[in-house]
Amino acid sequence: MIDMQRFWDAMIDCRTRVQRQNLLIRYAQIQLDYRTPKEVSALRLKYRKDWRAWMRDDSQCGCCLESPNELTHHIIGLAHGGPVENENLFPICGDCHFTVHEASR
Ligand SMILES: [Zn+2]
Ligand SMILES: [Zn+2]
Repeated sequence: MIDMQRFWDAMIDCRTRVQRQNLLIRYAQIQLDYRTPKEVSALRLKYRKDWRAWMRDDSQCGCCLESPNELTHHIIGLAHGGPVENENLFPICGDCHFTVHEASR
């Protein structure tokens, strides 16, 4: 089981948006396991409400700290075996989310 606390400790140490984006990009490339698209869809369906409820705690993007949060990003992607836990969720705006996923493809 991966220790997501290490991510959050590193995130607190980041001083700029670019540092935070780079940390997110690094974690988006971690491959713990493989889930099929069907398995990922099933998880999204099952947990969507919980994730949405968790989102309300943060009003701003955790990356740029400027734009309102619009999306729930999985720090380690569900398709990469990312944990289905709140500690693997990151509130993010559309622009930062696009940047992270473009860079980590
Ligand atoms: Zn942002
Ligand atoms: Zn994402």
